[in-house]
Amino acid sequence: MANRKTLIAGNWKMNTTADEAIKLAGDIAKEIPGLSHQTDFLICPPFVWLNTVAGIVKNTDVKLGAQNMYWEDKGAYTGEISPAMIKSAGCEYVILGHSERRQYFGETDQTINKKLNKAIESSLIPVVCLGESLDIRESGKTNDVITEQFKECFRGFTQYDGIILAYEPVWAIGTGKTATPEQAQEVHKLLRDLLKSQTDGYNKVRLLYGGSVKPGNAGELIIKEDIDGFLVGGASLKAADFIGIAKAAAPQVTA
Ligand code: PEP
Repeated sequence: MANRKTLIAGNWKMNTTADEAIKLAGDIAKEIPGLSHQTDFLICPPFVWLNTVAGIVKNTDVKLGAQNMYWEDKGAYTGEISPAMIKSAGCEYVILGHSERRQYFGETDQTINKKLNKAIESSLIPVVCLGESLDIRESGKTNDVITEQFKECFRGFTQYDGIILAYEPVWAIGTGKTATPEQAQEVHKLLRDLLKSQTDGYNKVRLLYGGSVKPGNAGELIIKEDIDGFLVGGASLKAADFIGIAKAAAPQVTA
């Protein structure tokens, strides 16, 4: 893990009512003391609950992020949310390029690049998602596709301080299938090498794995050298599972 603090991030997706969001955030915040010296925590609720959840996690070590944003400051973009809006709702982080955004809402590496530039300009910390489909993996082109996604999403970038990457194989998201620790580490190592070709700070960038992470598999994944934490979907909706992942991923000896 090379001196990178473990980060456990929860992507709540389009889940929770107001009451459920309040309870979940409160339950997570209650469990964090005692763990936050070794692990960073981030939760990304739906836009409509950001303000409310910000009040609950204020003065705790739980950070708040949005699941998406638009690249313009304001204007006639019905239904979109600006960086300033999510910041004023209490966010320090934003997930960009999640595979569900790519699959259902037409996001591309190019639009992700625009959002990424805007996030940096707005002093938001981006969690940039990359990952291959099952077809790509089965055709042996995973490394080519990840390399292409990396190069296009980060086109024009020379500086990666504070940026977080999440490798999320599409075939592992919400399916119950997890990449093996070796499969995940292979792609994380590729990402580390791509970063190395771009910046001296390559070793400081945190690389998260996402795809059906649970308390039962987090331990075997986190011991891999380039896996620095997790982006968690389904299991982030139960405080006990989310905290269970953090406990299982508490710093261990690297393999
Ligand atoms: C995700 O949505 O980023 C994710 C990894 O989902 P899940 O943990 O449910 O596979």
